[in-house]
Amino acid sequence: MKVLVTGGAGYVGSVVAAQLVAAGHEVVVLDDLSTGHRDAVPPGCTFVEGDVRDRAAEVLADGVAAVLHFAAKSIVPESVAHPELYWGGNVGVSLALLEAMRSTGVRRIVFSSTAAVYGEPERVPIREDAPVRPTNPYGATKAAIDAALTEHARMHGIGAVSLRYFNVAGAQDGRGERHATETHLVPLVLQVALGGRESVSLFGTDYPTPDGTCVRDYIHVADLAEAHLLALDHCVPGRHRIYNLGNGAGFSVRQVVEVCRAVTGHPIPVVPADRRPGDPAALVASGERARAELGWRPRRSELATIIADAWAFHSGGPRAEAAAARPAGGR
Ligand code: UDP
Repeated sequence: MKVLVTGGAGYVGSVVAAQLVAAGHEVVVLDDLSTGHRDAVPPGCTFVEGDVRDRAAEVLADGVAAVLHFAAKSIVPESVAHPELYWGGNVGVSLALLEAMRSTGVRRIVFSSTAAVYGEPERVPIREDAPVRPTNPYGATKAAIDAALTEHARMHGIGAVSLRYFNVAGAQDGRGERHATETHLVPLVLQVALGGRESVSLFGTDYPTPDGTCVRDYIHVADLAEAHLLALDHCVPGRHRIYNLGNGAGFSVRQVVEVCRAVTGHPIPVVPADRRPGDPAALVASGERARAELGWRPRRSELATIIADAWAFHSGGPRAEAAAARPAGGR
């Protein structure tokens, strides 16, 4: 099948694009390279550089049967400081894509949503019917797009699947996290092991969790990507279905650092710091629906496997060197 992958030069999008090519699909990647990398686009894909708003319709009109939509802005603190960038870059872009799908008759879409739509959950593990109460503009824009997909399914016969990611980490085939301003825990901890920073901050040590640090559900990017290929087969016209993607197991920030020490052999000093605004104490997915309906089976769910694959990416090869050489940014 011919598919359009928006944001296919980014972290998750490029891993999904590679799996789609491996599965025999014809893949067109559309990416403006604002945060993605040209060399992350897998061999075998057609690459179109540009903005979804300008280029989606012409790409879709050329025989595309389905869309996997990753192109988005995804840095929470940036979304708090510049919400307009997120409403335009996420909601505006997605509405333009849906309009292009309508005008060209493409009716299947898999959307990259997030656990951030749930905010501070009442119950853990979080099921898909939990209230949507985002605590930052990033989550709010993804929730708005989910709502738009529901309406487009109802009124325009779109078949949509939203996949709500928990904490994605790891790498596959030389494709890993390479953010200009890194804010995510696993790459930041590994930067310490690589000598790029002195220590890692523990953002909050007084949370109501077993060791006082936040608990998150870490999922391997390769497992996450596989769910997208399964989701493609579950885009049923007129229906919007939502799935949480996580392992259903939570690990604290301290536990993540401990596993990183074991994997890298580096002592990785930690420094207790203030809580980060908007961080819920614990976010753990119920992955039951994805397992039951999509037949999804995470195969690399051990935290040590996830971190070992991230470490292999960050510590070896030219891409890793480029990533490590970048100035350490973020929090
Ligand atoms: N975190 C931390 N130190 C860091 C980066 C992150 O303690 O340098 C914590 C953060 O507060 C959160 C967890 O690690 O509790 C995961 O953060 P990340 O930004 O990776 O993902 P999020 O859960 O915000 O999507």
